[in-house]
Amino acid sequence: MGFGGKIKEWLLDLIYPNYCIGCGNLGQLVCDDCSIGSFEGRIFVEPEIGTLWVAADYNNPIIKQAIGLFKYRYITGLKLFFESLVAKLLQTVKLDTTNVIVVSVPLHFRKKLKRGFNQSELIAELVGRMGGWPVDDILIRRRQTVSQTALSRKDRQDNIRGAFMVRDSNLPRHDVTVILVDDVYTTGATMNECKLVLEKAGFQRVVGLVLAKKRTS
Ligand SMILES: [Zn+2]
Repeated sequence: MGFGGKIKEWLLDLIYPNYCIGCGNLGQLVCDDCSIGSFEGRIFVEPEIGTLWVAADYNNPIIKQAIGLFKYRYITGLKLFFESLVAKLLQTVKLDTTNVIVVSVPLHFRKKLKRGFNQSELIAELVGRMGGWPVDDILIRRRQTVSQTALSRKDRQDNIRGAFMVRDSNLPRHDVTVILVDDVYTTGATMNECKLVLEKAGFQRVVGLVLAKKRTS
């Protein structure tokens, strides 16, 4: 982060004083008690991605609020909260290999430019730092897609097909576990497409990791 970014972060921290979004106590954006209460740490097996590591339930009001904030800004209080969720999740899943790369679901560069950051990239950085694994931007978004929210499951899959590619690199691909990171898991259409593209490029083991998963009813 550049100097301008640091100043902006400092200003935002001033504007948004840390009252806990869970219980209202002054101190942290999410206090220790509320943080423990909102962590779930579950391993799902989903048809779209296979193994999916999930830190929290999106329907938990604290998580919903935190992720709502995260869409617009990345203040220090959020960073600390997400760090604690990721740390607890990595303790829960206990990955038994060091042969790992962390890859985020990419945003189209135009969208990233508009928003200023890519949420999944920021979470991937946390995962890499806490797990001691390299983060690689091996996935590229080659075209913009229309917003997925209003689409049916089938249309989401059609919408996302062909949106990603793996860039050339000398990374070893066999016996590597790719941790594919996104902020929220909804239908899994995006992660599914990323996984297919990674597998086609020779990565045999892909697991998903998200901060939160929406309940499917
Ligand atoms: Zn609290």
